[in-house]
Amino acid sequence: MPTSSPSSPPVTTPVAGWKRELATAVRDPAELCRLLDLDPTIGSRAVAAGRSFPFLVPRGFVSRMRPADPADPLLLQVLPQPAELDDVAGFSSDPLAERQARRAGGLIQKYAGRALLLLTGGCAVNCRYCFRREFPYADSGATPAGITLALKELAADPSIHEVILSGGDPLLLDDPLLARLVTDLGAIPQLRRLRIHSRLPVVLPSRITPDLLATLAASRLAVSLVIHANHAAELDDAVATALRRVAGSVPLRFNQAVLLRRVNDDAEVLAALSERLIDLGVSPYYLHLLDPVIGTAAFAVSEARGRELIDQLRRRLPGYAVPRLARERPGEPAKVWLA
Ligand code: SF4
Repeated sequence: MPTSSPSSPPVTTPVAGWKRELATAVRDPAELCRLLDLDPTIGSRAVAAGRSFPFLVPRGFVSRMRPADPADPLLLQVLPQPAELDDVAGFSSDPLAERQARRAGGLIQKYAGRALLLLTGGCAVNCRYCFRREFPYADSGATPAGITLALKELAADPSIHEVILSGGDPLLLDDPLLARLVTDLGAIPQLRRLRIHSRLPVVLPSRITPDLLATLAASRLAVSLVIHANHAAELDDAVATALRRVAGSVPLRFNQAVLLRRVNDDAEVLAALSERLIDLGVSPYYLHLLDPVIGTAAFAVSEARGRELIDQLRRRLPGYAVPRLARERPGEPAKVWLA
């Protein structure tokens, strides 16, 4: 039976709210500065500085920034700064040697027993300190064909027990595609765990849809979610609601933060982040030292300062609320724990 006729309205698939929000994200640093009542010269400097990595920030994330404050810790994470264009010794395009760790399609294996599956190069926010800001996604295998190849490779390798969905941001894939992928991964007998690394629950909490939760809850794999927040101000009421809903379907939830100069290199700020995460049922898992990627040097904090901060956190918080200070070194069999 036809579902429409020339006289009836066309049948359309409703666009999910999170996609609408993403479509209206701010893509011009000058507009962001106008929205926040910042001096227009900050906006023009940011436009010039943003040439090397596109600017993108959802309006819900902007609403958590303090107006008229150029030092706001959320703003500093996303606003291009002139220093990004400086060439700094020790900062390169692939400091983690991820290109050498590629296997078939979008599959990257750095450590024993687990592998990363890159699903897309896109994100809902472009963080200026991003360790993959120089990653060549166009030929990374993060495509439907690359994913098919990666699934075949996984099926043929009995040594891999855990798959980590990564990107870009894997939750940018829409619900039907993710559901099919989770089903396909569940059909590989040697896989036991599925981990999802995503910043979307923080920057676009409407992404936590009932369909996504149903997919994760139905998988035979043990599913964990690793979110990425660097400051307690990122975790507003909408994020809290989304994370509480996730808790019903995903038993293990962790946060990874990056230690960033002027954003969170302060014991009080880090303690507030840990306490907020624990209140929301999320374990503060890692505090990463910055990976030295071109354009990010202004965010770097020394290893000595990182250890000092962890020591201060230990004096204030219960052990389970203190993240591990970690750094990734290419060629090491695991992340290096520094404190
Ligand atoms: S969300 Fe993650 S992958 Fe995307 S830009 Fe930020 S740090 Fe990079």
